[in-house]
Amino acid sequence: MTTIQAVRGMNDILPDETPLWRYLEETLREVLEAYSYREIRLPIVEKTELFKRTIGEVTDIVEKEMYTFDDRNGDSLTLRPEGTACSVRAGIENGLLYNQIQRLWYQGPMFRHERPQKGRYRQFHQVGVEAFGMPGPDIDAEMILLTARLWKRLGLTGLQLQLNSLGSLAARANYREELVKYLLAHDSQLDDDSRRRLHGNPLRILDSKNPAMQDMLSKAPSLQDYLDTESQEHFAELNALLTKAGVAATFNPRLVRGLDYYNRTVFEWVSDELGAQGTVCAGGRYDGLVAQLGGKATPAIGCAMGLDRLVAILKAKRGDASARAPDCYMVMVGNESQQLGLLLAEQIRDAHPRLSIEVNCGGGSFKNQLKRADKSGAKWALILGEDETAQGNVAVKYLREDKPQTVLAQQALADFLSLSD
Ligand code: ATP
Ligand code: MG
Repeated sequence: MTTIQAVRGMNDILPDETPLWRYLEETLREVLEAYSYREIRLPIVEKTELFKRTIGEVTDIVEKEMYTFDDRNGDSLTLRPEGTACSVRAGIENGLLYNQIQRLWYQGPMFRHERPQKGRYRQFHQVGVEAFGMPGPDIDAEMILLTARLWKRLGLTGLQLQLNSLGSLAARANYREELVKYLLAHDSQLDDDSRRRLHGNPLRILDSKNPAMQDMLSKAPSLQDYLDTESQEHFAELNALLTKAGVAATFNPRLVRGLDYYNRTVFEWVSDELGAQGTVCAGGRYDGLVAQLGGKATPAIGCAMGLDRLVAILKAKRGDASARAPDCYMVMVGNESQQLGLLLAEQIRDAHPRLSIEVNCGGGSFKNQLKRADKSGAKWALILGEDETAQGNVAVKYLREDKPQTVLAQQALADFLSLSD
């Protein structure tokens, strides 16, 4: 019989790796709470229309990457490819946005049917941060400072901040016209992807990695020359704030982001350690999105971090974080001892809810059990041999210290463990 394997691009995260994931997730949570962000938990499946209307019809995600299916009622549903659209949908639906300031964060798996490779999967994991109701560059700066603080806490030093402004939607529309004119004039140099995007999403062509187009693209009109005055001021103030805070940013006029809803500030944090899949965090302002989804106009900015890529960097730096070893390993010889051991372990857990005890279920010789105890990493082996059990005692063997084994009354074990912490 053929064995069933996981879906391509959807990975198991194994017990050796989960401690590193938890370390990352816990550090993230601490930093987010230090900035007063509150967690929101969102469904993994949404109506397909939500992503079509927000991300944009002519984007990679909507055109070819979504996991879309009809459910049993014939409704078209999609496994979420990102979390911003979901957050805005939830914010409007639950009255979180109207005339309010909100700092929200979410985490969980996202789904995109991309070509799987290192750092690019079909199920991947993001922590997203969204701030609603604040129009100024102060919150843009704060969000970038939050991410910078996170890298510092994680000990990630090689990340570079890239920054751009897309201007207002109107400024972008003017620019778009000029860009299309230019690209049409250089039509013969466009590749197929770019030709397809020419009328739907021409800005995205600037993002092309095709070497044959770089020279032509570098001479294209620059969005910076079309920015409206307010966006220019917003961007200048953001840069000044970042400089004062000591965060270095690289201006990248060709950073346009792949989703339609961004305006003004856009940014990415890029690592040089991951090869082509180097972006670990990306985001920007999306002041038009809430109104576009039927809410009252609300300024907003957000970003999302790719946890799979962050874990990969952490792993290269630190190796696997070790899982917590049990504190005690219960060794039991003989039928009566086996039953007793299970119950004694329960009593200890009642007394010490945070203590971890691994009970040797499934039998085995004394020698084998002791070997397992040692391998488990436990500090103590708690031994119930036939004699101990008959006498109401338990032997304690120190597995990591050079101390003689001691024998105690079973009732004294809980106290012994609290004294020995
Ligand atoms: P990329 O340019 O790498 O395709 P993106 O612009 O499509 O990224 P966003 O939608 O902005 O990515 O998502 C934010 C972050 O989520 C990315 O910077 C990256 O770290 C992570 N990410 C996105 N897609 C994937 C994927 N398929 N596998 C792993 N991580 C991903
Ligand atoms: Mg992508």
